[in-house]
Amino acid sequence: VDIGDRTLLKRPALIAFTCLIALDAREAAAQPRPAIVQSVDLQLPRVPETIDIAGQTHIVYELHITNFQAVDVAIRHIQILDDAGPNAVLASYADSAAIAGIVARPGRRRDQAPAHILEPGTRAIAYFWIAIPHNAPVPRAIRHRVAMDVLRSGGGAHTVIDGAVATVRSDAPVALDPPLRGGLWVAIYDPHLMGGHRTAIYTTEGRARIPGRFAIDWVRLPRSGVLENVTPRPADWNGYGADVLAVADAVVAGAMDDMPDNVGEPGASAHRPENASGNYVALDLGQGDFAFYEHLKHGSVMVKTGDRVRRGQVIARLGNSGSSSMGPHLHFHVSDTNSLLAAEGTPFVLRQFKHLGAFPSIAALLRGEKWVAASAREIRLERPAANSVVVFP
Ligand SMILES: [Zn+2]
Repeated sequence: VDIGDRTLLKRPALIAFTCLIALDAREAAAQPRPAIVQSVDLQLPRVPETIDIAGQTHIVYELHITNFQAVDVAIRHIQILDDAGPNAVLASYADSAAIAGIVARPGRRRDQAPAHILEPGTRAIAYFWIAIPHNAPVPRAIRHRVAMDVLRSGGGAHTVIDGAVATVRSDAPVALDPPLRGGLWVAIYDPHLMGGHRTAIYTTEGRARIPGRFAIDWVRLPRSGVLENVTPRPADWNGYGADVLAVADAVVAGAMDDMPDNVGEPGASAHRPENASGNYVALDLGQGDFAFYEHLKHGSVMVKTGDRVRRGQVIARLGNSGSSSMGPHLHFHVSDTNSLLAAEGTPFVLRQFKHLGAFPSIAALLRGEKWVAASAREIRLERPAANSVVVFP
């Protein structure tokens, strides 16, 4: 094309462009505007964290879903996608039963709607603990796709939100020595047990936090392999009085030994929040990590605030003080602040332990059922699997 005469070339293009605008304007006048459906607010109060369990990396975080409207909103489908990768679906909760397994509405009364239906002005929390498939890379960022019905009177509206993008924290969790020695020990936790440590929110000092997000309750099993000792005397329990060990070289950040051990049937002891931990020790591990040991035996705490301890040092004995509802055990967690409740629970792994098997659930353990043995294997730098039976060096 000879572009010597630019005006000749430009003119037809200009005419065509003008026609297009005219067409567009007619179209715009005829078409109604796309509907805007107000739904819910999605927030991640904390960055998703990763932790290795049984050879698989898990992503752990909570998604807060708040309904600011005066109508009910029903959550129908939640998908978590790899935001950086090829749109891979990492997890999918496609019906009310699946959603009910991971979503709770804090403060919900029994007579209110189920957790996945957000009544006006309420908030639901989805508690994610997602195993990344063996062959898939750990995503650098995740995204959420939430389908819901906004239940207006006179006709609801279905809508899908694609958003709540979050970067996944990639640094390794703090590695610790075991807080106990020998075994058999059961690592009791269930990330989705509503009312368990992971879902226990404490609102103090103006913030809602989950100090026990990664807490493990350690119970020692007798040789029989079942929890059989339900006598009212804690001293009869296997594990009562066992040595409790410093998990790292650390400075004692707090220690209290002011409460008697509970006697009577397990579960009978309910304590005020300030006493729930019972006798405890807090260790400053450095780098903003604090280890908490709770329900320690009365009179057994051997350290005081400011002491330096060496890894493996005996610092107290396993007991039954405070809200120790299942009988003598060691409650252990790591959090980001030197505070029992005004702190966010953070992940930790153990340097070394032997995995022998697991109980299918906490309920099975408490019913006195036997655990299911697996082929014994030495594990390094992992979190023990839920309700697994382990032996420490
Ligand atoms: Zn506990």
